[in-house]
Amino acid sequence: MTLTLYNTLSGALEEFAPLEAGRVRLYTCGPTVWNYAHVGNFRGNLFYDLLKRHLRVSGYQVTHVMNITDIDDRILHEAAHARQTIREYSATYERAFFEDLETLRFMPADIYPRATEHIGDIIELVGGLLADGHAYEVDGDVYFRVDSFPAYGALSKLDRAGLRAGARVATDKYEKESASDFALWKRAGEGDDLLGAAWPSPWGAGRPGWHIECSAMAMRYLGQTLDVHCGGVDLKFPHHENEIAQSEAFTGLPFARFWLHNEMLADLSGEKMSKSTGNIATLRDLLAAGHDPVAIRYFLVAGAHYRSPLRFDDDALHSAAEQVRRLRELHARLQETPREVADEGLRGEAESARARYRASLDNDLNLPQGMGHVFDVVRTANAALDRGRVGEGSQLALLRLLDEADAHLDVLRADDEGLEPRLQAMIDARERARAQRDFATADRLRESLREHGVLLEDSKSGVRWRRS
Ligand SMILES: [Zn+2]
Repeated sequence: MTLTLYNTLSGALEEFAPLEAGRVRLYTCGPTVWNYAHVGNFRGNLFYDLLKRHLRVSGYQVTHVMNITDIDDRILHEAAHARQTIREYSATYERAFFEDLETLRFMPADIYPRATEHIGDIIELVGGLLADGHAYEVDGDVYFRVDSFPAYGALSKLDRAGLRAGARVATDKYEKESASDFALWKRAGEGDDLLGAAWPSPWGAGRPGWHIECSAMAMRYLGQTLDVHCGGVDLKFPHHENEIAQSEAFTGLPFARFWLHNEMLADLSGEKMSKSTGNIATLRDLLAAGHDPVAIRYFLVAGAHYRSPLRFDDDALHSAAEQVRRLRELHARLQETPREVADEGLRGEAESARARYRASLDNDLNLPQGMGHVFDVVRTANAALDRGRVGEGSQLALLRLLDEADAHLDVLRADDEGLEPRLQAMIDARERARAQRDFATADRLRESLREHGVLLEDSKSGVRWRRS
């Protein structure tokens, strides 16, 4: 069995093998922690999760690095408004991001480097690029000289003349040699130091640009050539193109061998969901509305192939919840089945479904197709169980099939003890309603928590819950 992945760089499906036998170096672009992540962001994260789980199923050890961008213009702006340092401001959203990942059963990365803790690495990179003529300084700002890197545009397949014309509009305020040149280092503005957002450098006090962070942190932990670099298609240009230019201009080596890009989550009108278009729901919104996090996980990871757009709506979430319910139900039934029955008719079918499931995953992580094979058997298995005709061999083969799928899905296990995230989200929503003196909403949430078996007690130290 060979694993085939679609490599954006070559524009083709390619057989995957890491540089070092048995070990995959994986870098995935992480969040900018300036606000709560919207559910569309988690589609990307769960694509990383799927890839990583399948690499592990395929026998690889994976070293996964995902950066935390804790300095950028939005963070700076919001922190100034909130009269906080950028660290104080971003800490809330960083914590929320990790909580959300845990809620969605994301398999944690090995390293989550923060940009602000790698300023030295960034300065070293920028210094090297300046020394080699790949960058230039203008009044405390440092820019990458795109003309010095002839391969620019190879990933996004955009022609350079077009890039230059398209990039001109938004960038006139900088004194750059060429409109497509991009910032590696930005001169500090007045008061940035008070926000903890200015670092000394050979070019004066300032902060790193966004693109250079990823190059610095990826190479710091994974070496100069990565096996796989992932991100959303919206990052292909300019972010990933810029990462390649900076890194390869610095090292003279290929930066990443495989580039994998996931499509976006779209709303009903087909628009990309994002904060800038306003059509957003955070994971917390969905949990407060009573959606099961495991169903949300299933929807995001198996609702569509990662390279196809995924439409977000209530029906799709409900159908995901129903599929999870059917998988769990069959799993529970199989564990109860008495083993004396001798009928092994389903064994071959379950084993061939498992082979087809595996082949789908090996074919560029086609999980939706794989689940089609699984559900074909779920139907037959339930019918056979109804008739009491599942022998031990069939039973084990069916359980193996479910386990194989669950290695990617991770939906069969029950929630750990403690409050389920959606119930916690309802408590949080009630607290917010009370703070806004919206007592009708607060009472409604209290009542619906009671129906879920959770009783609330308000005390001076805050709200406490217990099970009824
Ligand atoms: Zn990045």
